[in-house]
Amino acid sequence: RQKDAMAARSKDDLRSPICCILGHVDTGKTKLLDKIRQTNVQEGEAGGITQQIGATYFPADAIREKTAVLGKDRVEEVKVPGLLVIDTPGHESFTNLRSRGSSLCNIAILVVDIMHGLEQQTLESIRLLRDRRTPFIVALNKIDRLFQWNPIPNNSFQASLAKQKKSVRQEFETRLEKTMLLFAEQGLNAALYYKNPNVSKYVSLVPTSAVTGEGVPDLLNLLINLTQTRMSNQLMYVTELECTVLEVKVIEGLGTTIDVVLVNGWLHEGDKIVVCGLNGPIITQVRALLTPQPMRELRIKSQYVHHKSVKAALGVKISAPDLDKAIAGSRLLVVGPDDDEDDLAEEVMSDLTDLMSTIDRQGHGVWVQASTLGSLEALLEFLRVSKIPVSGINIGPVHRKDVIKASVMVDKAKEYAVMLCFDVKVEKEAEELAEELGMKVFKADIIYHLFDRFQEYTNTLLEAKRKEQVGNAVFPCILKMVPGAIFMKKNPIVMGVDILEGQLRIGTPICVVRPNAEGVREIHTIGKVTSIEKDHKTMDVVKKGAAGAGVAIKIEQPVHENPKTYGRHFDDKDEYYSRITRNSIDILKESFRKDMAKDDWALVVKLKKILNVD
Ligand code: GDP
Repeated sequence: RQKDAMAARSKDDLRSPICCILGHVDTGKTKLLDKIRQTNVQEGEAGGITQQIGATYFPADAIREKTAVLGKDRVEEVKVPGLLVIDTPGHESFTNLRSRGSSLCNIAILVVDIMHGLEQQTLESIRLLRDRRTPFIVALNKIDRLFQWNPIPNNSFQASLAKQKKSVRQEFETRLEKTMLLFAEQGLNAALYYKNPNVSKYVSLVPTSAVTGEGVPDLLNLLINLTQTRMSNQLMYVTELECTVLEVKVIEGLGTTIDVVLVNGWLHEGDKIVVCGLNGPIITQVRALLTPQPMRELRIKSQYVHHKSVKAALGVKISAPDLDKAIAGSRLLVVGPDDDEDDLAEEVMSDLTDLMSTIDRQGHGVWVQASTLGSLEALLEFLRVSKIPVSGINIGPVHRKDVIKASVMVDKAKEYAVMLCFDVKVEKEAEELAEELGMKVFKADIIYHLFDRFQEYTNTLLEAKRKEQVGNAVFPCILKMVPGAIFMKKNPIVMGVDILEGQLRIGTPICVVRPNAEGVREIHTIGKVTSIEKDHKTMDVVKKGAAGAGVAIKIEQPVHENPKTYGRHFDDKDEYYSRITRNSIDILKESFRKDMAKDDWALVVKLKKILNVD
């Protein structure tokens, strides 16, 4: 085997780069993929384009043929043996093409609809690509929808654009500029690919039509150009095996199989392999390595071609016993003659155990469930950045037992009694149990949507709490009586005031601080503000500065104790403070942050000193 790998290295230095397609729904990912796969030549699989498992392989010859229309703009020499394009567009295959947290995707195509700009999933794709540091180019798709576009099928974009009417070219320019602005808003420089001043600093935009095929040669050419000039290091054959599970599928007659992408190295029939499983490592033996039957061989009965061995890079189906608990996104390792099986088992399981380590130590947080290791990893990364703690995770459909585990939060921390389910099915019984236990279950296949729903939920909880606590919140303020403006001296007291600092609200307890006979400062709480009038209008809040002339307040005094009296305990020389306490400050912090300005917090600190609150 070692010899196989060495032979590969000496024969050809570079392996085929792996390419994924991402983007918002309906931007044309599938159609673009179909167009790329189509051959212009009549004889079926011209140039040797081959359909694999989960991927299509384009050998160098096919690429040369497809880019011929570019003439002198075509890359001079295709140095990579070919290009492996992953067939299932979208987040899932991209996130599952992973190895130890980094991506095995060498380059991605982000598809953007030129008529729609950057949409939600586009932004999410950009975030994923950035997180994994994957280089990408943008297919600015659906150019044929520019008004009065005159198509020349499968043409180079530049040649087609030159043939368009002036108004069409103008519309194109306008939309291009708009797109570049939208990318700039995301902190990305973008440029039309043939005007790109620096490919390491600017994202290249390639205008395409998946319907007419225009721009597709440009797209392929740029992929080859960028991968072989800028990534040749990553594309060297290494002796080490790199292989990842993209999908776990039940196939009639074969049982549970795994579809893998072999990025580096070889796989052989009979190999002993190790993958990450839901209930622990799975160690099994390759029964068959399968790829689809070529199109023209359809009359052959068997659906698959069997291989004794396969070499990277390719997509292949592995049939083997005991795969039903295998996890998509897991690495696949082969047990070599000198390898310790247990070491390898621990190694593949570390993909899952590493994610476990992101769980909150105090066990406070939301429950997270996703379809695959890759998507779970992406969601957890997002939650980490958003500072949302996680109390538990699982992969696969949500069952009752998941709900039971997650529901410990109902009593511990209501705001985290939430299950964020990304791209997974929630069993009906699980949903019913959640309802019964008071758990919120949020399902989505866009991470942002899950996040938004969680935010919405925490906001409603916060709002309810504010309502509950509004009677106990004390906002900070300092008042001064307008000299002589005492309208009623007894319960209720009515006086005219200026707001020196902070905000005065209905319900605020008011106090003064005076030294007693021994010279010790004493706090006299006068009562609670029950009405505020400014210019004869009743108000709920008045803020510093807004007062000026004419703020009259009414203070109701408690009847059961000896009420403080005007003239004796307070008069127009005093400063009046809102009577804050440790508890009232905690309530402000917990539920009323959005009503407090920076100055207000500074005033809280000042009042704490004046009123001796610790
Ligand atoms: P996906 O969800 O990103 O895979 O999008 P699809 O490939 O399914 O395309 C969505 C819709 O847009 C389909 O109706 C396509 O026919 C259409 N479409 C895709 N690409 C183009 C294009 O370049 N031009 C036009 N006019 N329509 C397109």
